[in-house]
Amino acid sequence: MAEEEFDTDVCVVGGGPAGLVLALLMLRSGVRVTVVERSRTHHREFRGEILQPGAMALLDDLGVLAGARARGGHEHDRFRLVEGDRVLLEADYRLLPAPYDHLLSIPQAHVLDELLAHCHRFTGFRWLDGRRVGGLVRREGRVAGVTAAGPVGPCTVRARVVVGADGRYSRIRRLAGIGAGRTEAFAHDVLWFKLKESHNQSKSNSVEPPVRDVRVFRAGGSPVLVYASWPDRIQVGWTLPHKGYRDIAGQGLDHVRDELCRAVPPYAHLIREQIRSQGDLSLLDVFSSRAERWADDGLVLIGDAAHTHSPIGAQGINLAVQDAVVLHPVLVGALAAGDTGAARLGAFEELRSPDIAAVMRLQALQSKAMLSQGPFATRVRPRLARVLRHTPLYRKILHRIAYGNPSIRISDGSEERVMSCRRRSTAPPL
Ligand SMILES: Cc1cc2nc3c(=O)[nH]c(=O)nc-3n(C[C@H](O)[C@H](O)[C@H](O)COP(=O)(O)OP(=O)(O)OC[C@H]3O[C@@H](n4cnc5c(N)ncnc54)[C@H](O)[C@@H]3O)c2cc1C
Repeated sequence: MAEEEFDTDVCVVGGGPAGLVLALLMLRSGVRVTVVERSRTHHREFRGEILQPGAMALLDDLGVLAGARARGGHEHDRFRLVEGDRVLLEADYRLLPAPYDHLLSIPQAHVLDELLAHCHRFTGFRWLDGRRVGGLVRREGRVAGVTAAGPVGPCTVRARVVVGADGRYSRIRRLAGIGAGRTEAFAHDVLWFKLKESHNQSKSNSVEPPVRDVRVFRAGGSPVLVYASWPDRIQVGWTLPHKGYRDIAGQGLDHVRDELCRAVPPYAHLIREQIRSQGDLSLLDVFSSRAERWADDGLVLIGDAAHTHSPIGAQGINLAVQDAVVLHPVLVGALAAGDTGAARLGAFEELRSPDIAAVMRLQALQSKAMLSQGPFATRVRPRLARVLRHTPLYRKILHRIAYGNPSIRISDGSEERVMSCRRRSTAPPL
């Protein structure tokens, strides 16, 4: 097959939330964008599904939220940490101002399909799906494009800037020789699977009907996340110590099922009925990390490729979308000035670092709250949490979980906005 060659201004590698939001913003600013995506469909598993108000507000400003929602999703009112019948902690999103006074559980495909449809409205857009990037093109020591291959054949994309938005195992990051900066602070395995709701059971009340809460069942030191996933599934994520699943699985599937049923009794019936083999379960390695640097000459990393977060508190999509919004004016300014060197693109890391550090601190606190045991954690803290709920601090923390840095706004891409964004996006430490 003959190799295809393309020229563009910005080559985005990875059509996830970070990559497609950035593509749309750059297109709106009159920049030519090519996105190279290894998948042919957005419907693959393991994409995060819970949108925080921060991401919802920005997607709304971009004009894509309504269309994505129309494809289907569930609203959730609260995050709740529960143990048996007791609620140990909760984040009640109904206390936030409308219209973003809830969490949205929405298949990522709905958001990505909508973003892609908007990108296709621009003549400067090229979508190269089914192609996996395997190499960087270098010219005079700087990144000047990528090479990719797939069933349709190999291709080379030459670009003024390459954006690595290719997720937590970023190939671009590796090709650029940038360390992932993986920390073991949150290194867990998550057993990830979906159950189908049973309507008969819902009616007879032998299993709970779909609830509007995202719940974490604190099952010993291994919390289990449960939420209603569109259209009629229950998403379950069992957090285990890194490499800990091997021992449990070694004792057989019956043992795995028993442990799960003990951890989430309301779903025991469905677990026994629907988990029939190891093939029904996926084991994911989840970790947090922060790449050594986010920019090189002609290259910048965003989203999970730059900083990966634990699934605690569902922050990844929010941060990926915000990264794109913060990078957009930096990139427009760099292209306009004809300077896409590391120093200029590094302004993105400078702007965004404090926000990312604040979220990581918050997630460490949330993780502690879920995993800690003992009389204080189980008896005293729920009472404290009830008192705290009526204080301004509760709303402040809730707001921070929901929005991260709330001052991030979509800019028109002009240099003045770059400067105002620089001032606004520095979030104070929690
Ligand atoms: C189990 C689990 C549950 C999660 N749940 C949530 C949640 O509920 N809410 C939330 O906000 N976050 C959640 N997250 C995190 C969230 O999914 C990510 O933070 C978010 O998707 C990051 O977006 P991104 O665009 O940076 O990367 P990704 O979404 O990973 O997108 C990267 C894209 O790059 C493509 N790609 C990769 N390599 C190449 C290559 N070589 N060539 C071409 N294309 C390539 C991939 O196919 C993919 O489309 C969860 C994560 C995990 C692991």
